[in-house]
Amino acid sequence: MTEGVWAAPGRVNLIGEHTDYNDGLVLPFALPHTVVATAARRSDGVLRLRSANEPGGAVELRVRDLAPGHGPRGWTDYPAGVHWALSTAGHRLGGADLSFESAVPAGAGLSSSAALEVATALALNDLYGLGLDRPGLALLCRRAENEYVGAPVGIMDQTASACCTAGHALYLDTRDLSRRPIPLDPGAHGLTLLVVDTRVRHAHSGGEYAGRRAGCEAAAVALGVPALRDIGPAGLPDALERLPDPRARALVRHVVTENARVERVADALVSGALPAVGPLLTESHTSLRDDFRVSCPELDLVVESSLVAGALGARMTGGGFGGSAIVLTESVGAEAVTAAVESAFASASYEPPVIFAAKASEGARRLA
Ligand code: ADP
Ligand code: MG
Repeated sequence: MTEGVWAAPGRVNLIGEHTDYNDGLVLPFALPHTVVATAARRSDGVLRLRSANEPGGAVELRVRDLAPGHGPRGWTDYPAGVHWALSTAGHRLGGADLSFESAVPAGAGLSSSAALEVATALALNDLYGLGLDRPGLALLCRRAENEYVGAPVGIMDQTASACCTAGHALYLDTRDLSRRPIPLDPGAHGLTLLVVDTRVRHAHSGGEYAGRRAGCEAAAVALGVPALRDIGPAGLPDALERLPDPRARALVRHVVTENARVERVADALVSGALPAVGPLLTESHTSLRDDFRVSCPELDLVVESSLVAGALGARMTGGGFGGSAIVLTESVGAEAVTAAVESAFASASYEPPVIFAAKASEGARRLA
């Protein structure tokens, strides 16, 4: 029996990468691609989870046994973790049947994990009448991913999936969680924003991501600030002088300049100066490649080949080490840019990338 159907989208981060665990600024937008959850309550205290994207059939867990580090590890940790986070926060909820079907490619830097969590949270919130608002659900989804899955991610992905609106990016200050929709309609300016999934798969919960995060936190301690967010562009030269370790200096330089780029991109979007966004995307990529060191040869090749083919700007998006890049191009040149990236990948003997035009779409919602 089905009681309802809910959908939560993946997201593209336009700019503001590796800033969300530094109390910084981000500017994601929702994709039309969603995780759809078909759900119903159960009265026997069982959480039954099934995903059309995962072989192996349904997994049944007892809700009273849910605890970080217990039970099977794997994809079910995301929805089970959301149930656990809701219960741990004091909400009363019983078992459920949850069936997922996803069009968000997993591990592509498009946040399939947050889409899975937010679809689960929205379904359980409605089924059990918990009355939580979107930002509140996003916080509990992050808690599930941090504490139950064990991935030290920031708040961007869950907030984007839960709170984005169609035709807009979401300017999010990850310190005070204030949000502002910013119009994003490249098509109206004769521009196209391409997403290029390199199909190189990363693992966020892996050591590299955690290592960058720990490096940022150590640099903030060394500089005597609560978070790197507190170093503005004016304070950057002094901060760099005070850090003896060149790797720490590079991390700080990325975070400080990236926060400033988010502001500049938001300003350009508000004033309708969309082409000015291009070079800022490319600057972000250079900073992520050289200072933060989270790119990879495939992502670099997307950026280089698209720029040579006339794109206005390009950068990796998401955590890095694979996944996706975005490319801003004039719409008349989009086909040539697509062909150039495909041909560069073929010449390098990389797997063919998956390329599509992104449209800022609506956030999580109930479908039925
Ligand atoms: P991203 O969020 O960038 O896609 P992550 O590594 O954070 O990458 O999350 C990917 C993981 O999320 C997958 O390995 C899988 O465990 C889980 N996942 C995502 N989508 C689904 C789905 N439709 N069904 C089951 N598990 C999924
Ligand atoms: Mg993820």
